[in-house]
Amino acid sequence: MEYAPAVAKAVHPAPTLEWDTPLYQQAATQLDHALELAEVPDFVALRLRAPERAVILTLPIRMDDGRYELFPAYRVQHSSVLGPTKGGIRYDEAVDLGECAALAMWMTWKCALLKLPYGGAKGGVRCNARAMSVNELTRVTRRFTMELAPFIGPELDIPAPDMATNEQTMAWMMDTYSMQKGYAVPEIVTGKPVSIGGSLFRHEATGAGVVMVIERACSRLGWDLSEQSCVVQGFGNVGGIAATELHEKGARVVAVSDISGGVHAEAGLDIPTLHAYVAEHGSLEGYESGVERITNEVLLELPCDILVLAAREDQVTGENAGNLRCRLVAEGANGPTSNEGDRILAERGIPVLPDILTNAGGVTVSYFEWVQDLGRLFWDRDEIRRRLADKMSDAFDRVWNVSQDRGIALRDAALVAAIREVSGALEARGIYP
Ligand code: GLU
Repeated sequence: MEYAPAVAKAVHPAPTLEWDTPLYQQAATQLDHALELAEVPDFVALRLRAPERAVILTLPIRMDDGRYELFPAYRVQHSSVLGPTKGGIRYDEAVDLGECAALAMWMTWKCALLKLPYGGAKGGVRCNARAMSVNELTRVTRRFTMELAPFIGPELDIPAPDMATNEQTMAWMMDTYSMQKGYAVPEIVTGKPVSIGGSLFRHEATGAGVVMVIERACSRLGWDLSEQSCVVQGFGNVGGIAATELHEKGARVVAVSDISGGVHAEAGLDIPTLHAYVAEHGSLEGYESGVERITNEVLLELPCDILVLAAREDQVTGENAGNLRCRLVAEGANGPTSNEGDRILAERGIPVLPDILTNAGGVTVSYFEWVQDLGRLFWDRDEIRRRLADKMSDAFDRVWNVSQDRGIALRDAALVAAIREVSGALEARGIYP
C-alpha cells in the first residue's frame, strides 16, 4: 500500500462547511493536534476531519394550547468505519448543527478508545424541554423518530439518551420505530426501560464509569480516594450518580450543583438526602438545610482535590481555568473544558481525565445493551458492572501508559489511541471506490 506522508491538514485542508461553529472548531483543533502525534496516513486524517452525514429537520409540533411550533432537529453521523454509528439525542436550547457535529466526532473517539464496534453520532432537538409537557415531548419524540427512520437502524445508527432525554424518550423512540416495522425492534435504541429490553446498570453506567476512572487515576497518583474532597458540577444522570458513588466510597463531596445553582458544605454533603429532595422537588432549588447556596461559577473555583465536570460543554475556559483550586479534573460531560482552558490547566500541572475516556461508561453499557438485545439473552447486574469495570480499566491503562511513555497530556493520549484504532480500520477498508 502506498501512503501520502502523515499529517494531512496542511496538504488537503478539509472544506469548511455549515457545522463549523466554535464547538466544532474545538473538536477539530483537538483532532489536528492529536494528528500531529498519531502518525496516520494523509487520507485518514482528511476523512476524519468532517462528519460523513448530517440530517437537518424541522419538526412541526402541535402544542397543548393548540398552537403549532416548528422545532429544528439534527442527527450527525461522524464515522461508520468501525460499525453502526452510536450516540445520544439531546433536547436543549443550544442544540445546533455544529454542536451535534462536534459531539458526534467525540463519540467516534470514545467508541474507538473503548474498542466498541461503533462510530460516533449525535442528534437533538432545539427546544426547552423543561417548559414542555409530557404530551408535547411525546409528539416531538415520535415525529423526530419517524422522520429519522430512513437514517437510523440497529445496523446503521443507534440513538441513546443525552441531555434532557431519558428512558421514557427511548421507549417512545423504540415504539415509533417498531410500529413502522410491524414488530418489536428493541435494538434500535439503548438506554431503554428494562421492561422493553433495556440493560440493567445502564442508568448508572456513565456516573459509575466516571468514578471507576477517578479511582484508577487516584491509585496511579498514589492518592487514597476516601481521603479526597470532591466538587461535582451537575446533579443529573451523570453528576448525581457520580456524587453517590464518590460518597459511597468514602470521599467527601463538598459541593454539587444543577441548573438552579449549587450547594456547599465543607464537612461534606449528605448525598442521599439531596437525591431525595430532587426526587420530590425536581431540582436543588430551595434546598437550604445545613448548606451554603452558591452559584455554578463559584462552585468551579472552590478548593478541593477532585473537580468533576458533569454538566455541559464549555465550563472551564480561558476565563476561569486560572482560578480553579482542584488537583485533578474529571470530565463527566462532553467537552466541558475549552482548548484554552486545557492549555492553562496543563501549564498549572492539573491533570484532566478526558471526556472520551471518563464518561465512556454510558456508551459501553449501551453496547452491552445492544449485544443483549441482538442475542435475546440478558445478563445480571454484577456481570454488567464487572464487564464495565474491565473495559474502563483497560482503556484507562492504555491512555495512562501512552501519556507517560510519550510525555503528552491524557487527552492527547486518549485521542491518539482512538484515532489509531479508527485509522487501522480505515486503512484496511480503504476509501470507496
Ligand atoms: N449520550 C451518551 C454519551 O455522550 C451515551 C451515548 C450512547 O449510549 O450511545 O456518551
